[in-house]
Amino acid sequence: MHYKLTEEIIALSDSQAWNFAKLEWDFNFAYYSEDLQTCLCGHYPIRNICVIRNKKNSNQTEVGNCCINKFLGIEDGNKIFTSIKKLKDDNSKSMSAEVIDYIYNKNGISDFEYKFYVDIYRKRNLTPKQLAIKVSINDKFLAFTSYETNSHFNRINLVLKWAENNSSFDKDFILSLKKNCERNGKLSEKQKMALENIITKFKIE
Ligand SMILES: [Zn+2]
Repeated sequence: MHYKLTEEIIALSDSQAWNFAKLEWDFNFAYYSEDLQTCLCGHYPIRNICVIRNKKNSNQTEVGNCCINKFLGIEDGNKIFTSIKKLKDDNSKSMSAEVIDYIYNKNGISDFEYKFYVDIYRKRNLTPKQLAIKVSINDKFLAFTSYETNSHFNRINLVLKWAENNSSFDKDFILSLKKNCERNGKLSEKQKMALENIITKFKIE
């Protein structure tokens, strides 16, 4: 299993030597998949998935949390998965401080929501209104780290990457989809269809 992972990672890296190839990779996103997935190493099933990004060539790939910790030495995913599990059990609980920072830096929550969460973080007794806001932020985090959202982001990023080399393409619509996806945690059916139409029309892959 280990061998298969290193081979796959090296194929996506600049360096052909594993010890250097693995240093090219950084944590990008984490998500929890309701559908069972297969890790790059062949391990099945996995649900806790990290999207990692190569700092040199911008390649991206998805790896199960198992491999991330063991072979790539990237630990950022753990805290996120701990918070996902905790909030799935009870969405009135708190995500960890690192995870609040993570989702804020990824534009998953607004300035207001971030400040609000930090303000109430240590408070034991919340008013019903404060609790409702906290729960809505927690739900946003869960939506943001769901497989569905992340597959939407992948499709959007695919088009944006393609657009870098196709300057005549007007990116405004795609950028508005991205904002929408960040705000709502997902795209509507209509938006999804529009996005797929663009991908088909311009033969983007
Ligand atoms: Zn694995």
